[in-house]
Amino acid sequence: MEAIAYERAADIAGAIRAAREPGVAFIGGGTNLLDLMKGGVERPVKLIDITHLSDDGLDTARALPNGGVRIGALMRNSDAANHPLVRERYPLLTQALLAGASAQLRNMATVGGNLMQRTRCPYFYDTAFAACNKRAPGSGCAAIDGHHRNHAIFGASEACIAVNPSDMSVALAALDATVQVADAGGTRGIPIGQFHRLPGDRPDLDTTLQRGELITSVDLPPATSAAGTAYLKVRDRASYAFALVSVAAMLHMNGDKVEAVHIALGGVAHKPWRATIAEGMLTGQPLSDKALHEAAAAQMRDARPLRENRYKVAVAERAIVRAVNVAAGRERLGVTGETA
Ligand SMILES: Cc1cc2nc3c(=O)[nH]c(=O)nc-3n(C[C@H](O)[C@H](O)[C@H](O)COP(=O)(O)OP(=O)(O)OC[C@H]3O[C@@H](n4cnc5c(N)ncnc54)[C@H](O)[C@@H]3O)c2cc1C
Repeated sequence: MEAIAYERAADIAGAIRAAREPGVAFIGGGTNLLDLMKGGVERPVKLIDITHLSDDGLDTARALPNGGVRIGALMRNSDAANHPLVRERYPLLTQALLAGASAQLRNMATVGGNLMQRTRCPYFYDTAFAACNKRAPGSGCAAIDGHHRNHAIFGASEACIAVNPSDMSVALAALDATVQVADAGGTRGIPIGQFHRLPGDRPDLDTTLQRGELITSVDLPPATSAAGTAYLKVRDRASYAFALVSVAAMLHMNGDKVEAVHIALGGVAHKPWRATIAEGMLTGQPLSDKALHEAAAAQMRDARPLRENRYKVAVAERAIVRAVNVAAGRERLGVTGETA
């Protein structure tokens, strides 16, 4: 048996101070970290419970002077999804949060923990497999020649083909959110596109968060009231399943022309993947079926699928088309938000 110390931090300063020691981990809802500890994948020597911090605003959402909204890192996923400011201004985020996990998990999971949740690659979770560069750097990647139906088709490396499993982060990528973090040296904002990393030769690092940094909030830029949005999640079951592919789309039309479009893909890479090729082809053009299909196809030409996950290319292409059409008000999604 391994001894694990526990400390309940009283405020942000105390949490940051406690995190200076080696082998320390923050614990939010514990819905990911405790599973990883039970499986021997993560072995912190001390847990810093951050769910009782007394600082203002960490467990709620509030309007920012610039018209945006700040979501506290300790907000439970269900509270964040259902907060009036989020529901009214960022329905895309509400949809993505509610598409994740189950009601019980969403009641426990925090926004900060959701951002930091680790991949669901089975070779990462199962320590019986010796080879996993993410779990044991330098040991190899069992997934590349193994079962990789759920793995990456964009941005993978020879060291790792795992995908980021978060639904929330895909919506945050489409919304151009900023992750606010704090440590002993002060605070900084990390644009969501720079928060999660591609694996390269350091797949053990999921994010650019430095050791000891605490996520304090997520800032959303001012919402464009005219924008239509959609979160489309394609999965094996209608609930309680991670995305095979997901698409967060935000569309702003000017007459029949696309003024701006943001498209982020989930389930396809080590980080939420902005579909910049499709975005570029659609911006400033009339939103015809032909243009939309061509943009989605062009986006997916960059994909590098493996033996078992070629299906994701076709699925993602159709999901981009469908999500943008839903954002444009031309199609509707089913009650559970996924494609039939
Ligand atoms: C059965 C099951 C199904 C699921 N299905 C989905 C799904 O479909 N979609 C989806 O998106 N997610 C899904 N999840 C994952 C779930 O969303 C995450 O487990 C949850 O969001 C993690 O939040 P938490 O607060 O419990 O994090 P914790 O487990 O407490 O922490 C996770 C990590 O984040 C770090 N951390 C936590 N808070 C902070 C902070 N403020 N600053 C810095 N680091 C921090 C911790 O140190 C730890 O490394 C599922 C989980 C389970 C168990």
